[in-house]
Parts: sequence; structure tokens; C-alpha cells
Amino acid sequence: MKKIKIAVLPGDGIGPEVMKETYKIIEVINNKFKINIETNEYDVGGIAIDNYGTPLPKNTLKGCENSDSILFGSVGGEKWKNLPFKQQPETGSLLKLRKYFNLFANIRPAILYKGLENLSPLKNNIIKNGFDIICVRELTGGLYYGKPKKKKFNVINKYAYDTKIYYQKEIERISIIAFELALKRNKKVTSIDKSNVLNSSLLWKNTVNAISKKYPKVQLNHLYIDNAVMQIINNPKQFDVILCSNLFGDIISDSCAMISGSIGMLPSASINNNNFGLYEPSGGSAPELTGKNMANPIAQILSLSLLLRYSFKLNYIANNIEKAIKKTLYQGYRTFDLIKNSNNYIYTNQIGDIIANFLYKGENNE
Ligand code: NAD
Repeated sequence: MKKIKIAVLPGDGIGPEVMKETYKIIEVINNKFKINIETNEYDVGGIAIDNYGTPLPKNTLKGCENSDSILFGSVGGEKWKNLPFKQQPETGSLLKLRKYFNLFANIRPAILYKGLENLSPLKNNIIKNGFDIICVRELTGGLYYGKPKKKKFNVINKYAYDTKIYYQKEIERISIIAFELALKRNKKVTSIDKSNVLNSSLLWKNTVNAISKKYPKVQLNHLYIDNAVMQIINNPKQFDVILCSNLFGDIISDSCAMISGSIGMLPSASINNNNFGLYEPSGGSAPELTGKNMANPIAQILSLSLLLRYSFKLNYIANNIEKAIKKTLYQGYRTFDLIKNSNNYIYTNQIGDIIANFLYKGENNE
């Protein structure tokens, strides 16, 4: 029996509530698919500050090191928002984990599920056939980490600068992730840059072109970032895998999130070269929903699905989880965020039960 050890970090706000529903899915997987998923829970973010005085305590980091992957909830909230930047729940835990485990590849699917078309701000004629995009974003380099960066604000002078630097190797490894993913999907990669203005983008484009030679079955095209955002709004269906630098990926993945309907549906994976990953919902701790049993647990459940897919190649289980979610939505079950102008929603624990039940009763195809 395959054994998988996961460090579970529920965090703050709705994190523990949506994680509770994900445990139901893990239980079904262990019983039905004969996989042994072992979970160990650790504090992270605000709750860790309260209990240990730091957002990423040593025993949490050690627990992650001793696991095969991390399932992360969400962190942050009013109580901790005035702490110094480096001690904040997000910067002090999530960003540190990404750096510590060298999680350079961020993978974010953006799917418009059947039945949720009315949630997208796009017109029906644009989205009537849905879309299924994967945004592959370089996560540990580029403008957000490039040095030097400086801000000087004094009476005489006020200036600030950042550096967007990419090494060829960084571009190569993220490109390979994108091309490999495309091979298993619709065999199309769109690489985003601003090579008409930026040197780092020109290196990006040339490197992606070189890598593409090893993937003759995958169609590659390039778009400037400004045009890419317009194209996502105009015709999202044209995209399969979108490959981006850190900064452009930040913009593109949020644009894709916006047109998908609800942030409560969007999972995210950040992986390294050894298939170790941190899997989390794209949204935050949603303080206004906390404790009300109203949060949508689907993004968290889909994060587990990504974990099984990308870290363990258990695609058949991931497919079954995704099928159970599609069935739930298709049959009209909706959490609060998925309903417009109606009180006809169900609660977090109810939708968790329904998905778990559909998964349990569904097929068991390898
Ligand atoms: P947020 O994502 O928590 O909330 C934005 C909106 O999305 C809110 O209307 C919220 O109700 C809704 N939402 C988010 N997740 C949902 C879900 N599962 N189901 C239904 N609705 C959902 O972002 P915010 O309001 O900007 O931030 C709130 C807190 O979360 C802050 O402290 C912020 O620092 C933190 N945050 C954490 C992460 C993370 O842990 N990765 C990411 C973003 C924000």
C-alpha cells in the first residue's frame, strides 16, 4: 500500500474550517483507494504567533521537512496585521516556506465549471464553452527577489528601485514544467513577456524558444503581458498552459481567477525539483466568513487533488475528486459564494459531506 505523509497547516480564519472538510476526502481516499495518507497537523501564521511567538515555529518547519508535501490552509487576520512586515503571518510563514523548500514553480488552474457561468464577469457569448487554463508562474526569482532593491525616502531625495533579473537556468526549469504539463493537456504553451522593452524578457523569450525545440508536439506562442491580459478577457478559451515570470504570473493568475467566478474554487500548487510541494487555496483567511460555516471548501479540497497529481502522480484519484466536485456543482449544490441573489445556499460541512459521498460512491478507475 502506498504511504504518503502530509504536513497539514490549517492556519487562521477559514483555514481550519475548510481543512476539516478536506479530512473527509482524505478518509474516503484511504478507505476506497487503498492509499495510506498519514496527516500531522502543525500551527502556522497567526495561531502560531499566539502559541509560539513566531508564524513559522521550528516544530512546524521540522514537521514539513519530515513530510512528503504540505497542505496549507490560509493565514492572517486583523489581530496580527499591525506586526512588523517580517513577522506578519503571510511573510513570516508562506514566503519563508516557499524559499526554504525552493518552491520555484507555481501552478494555478483556472477552470470555469459547468453551471457557474453566471458568476464570471465575462459575457455569456465569450464563456459559453467554458475554459480550462493552467498558469505556470516562476515563483522564486525575477522582480520580487532581484537585487539590488532600494528605497530612499528623505527630505532631499525620494527614490526607489527594484531589479528584474533572470538566470537562463531559472527560465529553463520553469519552461520544462510548462511544456511537460502541456504535453498531457491540449499541447499549447503561451509564454508571456515584455521583450520589446525588457532585457530580462528577451532572455526569457529566447530561452523558452530553445526549450520548445525539445517539445515538437507542443505549439508555442508568445504574447506581451499587456496583450495577454486583454486576450484572457476577450477569449480565455484560446489558452491551455500560460507560462510566466514571477511578476507577470502574479497579474495573469489573478486575471484568470477573476473570470473563473469565485476565489473559493481556486487551488494552487508550488513545487520544487523533487516534486515536494506546498498546496493551498488561492484565497486568504476570509475573516468575515470565519466561524459561520459558510466558506467554500472546494479550493482546499482541490489543493489536495493537486497534491496527489503533482507530488505523487496519483492522477486517477485526483480525477475522481474533481469528478465528485463537478457532480456536486452540476446537481446544483452551492455554497454562499457561488450563489447570486438568493439564500438557497448550503453550509461548508454540508458541501464537504456531499463531495465526500460522491467520491465514495463514484468509480474507482486507475
Ligand atoms: P481573502 O481571499 O481572504 O478574501 C477575499 C474575498 O474572497 C472575501 O470576500 C472572502 O470572503 C472571499 N473568499 C476567500 N476565500 C473564500 C472561500 N473559501 N469561500 C468563500 N469566499 C471566500 O483576501 P483578503 O480579504 O484580502 O485577506 C484576508 C486575510 O487573509 C488577510 O489577513 C490577508 O493577509 C490574508 N491572506 C492570506 C493568504 C494566504 O494565506 N495565502 C492569501 C491572501 C490573503
